[in-house]
Amino acid sequence: MPKGGVGKTTTAVNLAASLAVAEKKTLLIDADPFGASAMSLGFTPERIKAGIAEVFSFTHSLDHAIHRTELDYLDFVPSNVNTIQRDERFTKIAENRVVLKNALRGAAQHYEYIIIDCPPIMRGIVANALTASSSVMMPVRSGHFSLEAISKLFKYIEYIKEIANPALYIEGIVMTMYESNTKVTEISERELKLRYNKYLFKTHIPRNHIVTESTFYGKPCILYNVNANVSMAYLELAYELINKYAPEKAVV
Ligand code: ADP
Ligand code: MG
Repeated sequence: MPKGGVGKTTTAVNLAASLAVAEKKTLLIDADPFGASAMSLGFTPERIKAGIAEVFSFTHSLDHAIHRTELDYLDFVPSNVNTIQRDERFTKIAENRVVLKNALRGAAQHYEYIIIDCPPIMRGIVANALTASSSVMMPVRSGHFSLEAISKLFKYIEYIKEIANPALYIEGIVMTMYESNTKVTEISERELKLRYNKYLFKTHIPRNHIVTESTFYGKPCILYNVNANVSMAYLELAYELINKYAPEKAVV
């Protein structure tokens, strides 16, 4: 969940869709009050019956806010914090760090992966998400990140570990909007490797206009154009993530 416009929502949606295509039961939660995940999954406001706003006002359980998607293995909780009153209540209730963790208790056993798309802040809903999670994934925009911002995020994760979730760990850093063979990419990748090599995912997500285009059509890019390099990259990222934990295969 680093700063805005780095590809967090795109990564959350497309990684969730890729895990679902790999038949891993996945829940995507849009925890950004300005959330745009619904658009990328083709949800118009009329199709949203409940969302994170009800969960954070305790009017409905999380189950009630879960929507099926066009992928059998992917469910979705939209962000519907869309009025000033809801936003005020949401912000206030999110000061309590354990609301999301408690809400997820029942749902957790039904899913292999729960992905929470966060806004670029370091409090409230993000503290909730980090308290409820086992790990954090950080998309960084290739060529446009600040090492200082990444280091600040690491410190915030450390802080949440200390006060609320000792088991939390860093799943990894994913480079997004990657343009190969450019000087700025080369320099920035070198910098990132120098400081954070052990956290870097091998898969890079290339820059491709298909990402924005598919959002207009209300589809994750893998369902819009599976042959695009960016779709392949998200499938590969899912594969990399799944295989991090796969038991060693017996050599026959
Ligand atoms: P964040 O959630 O971090 O604010 P988004 O995922 O919403 O970032 O992406 C910000 C903008 O960049 C969006 O317009 C999105 O369509 C675009 N974008 C994201 N990833 C890519 C990519 N790999 N190639 C091209 N455009 C991208
Ligand atoms: Mg976003």
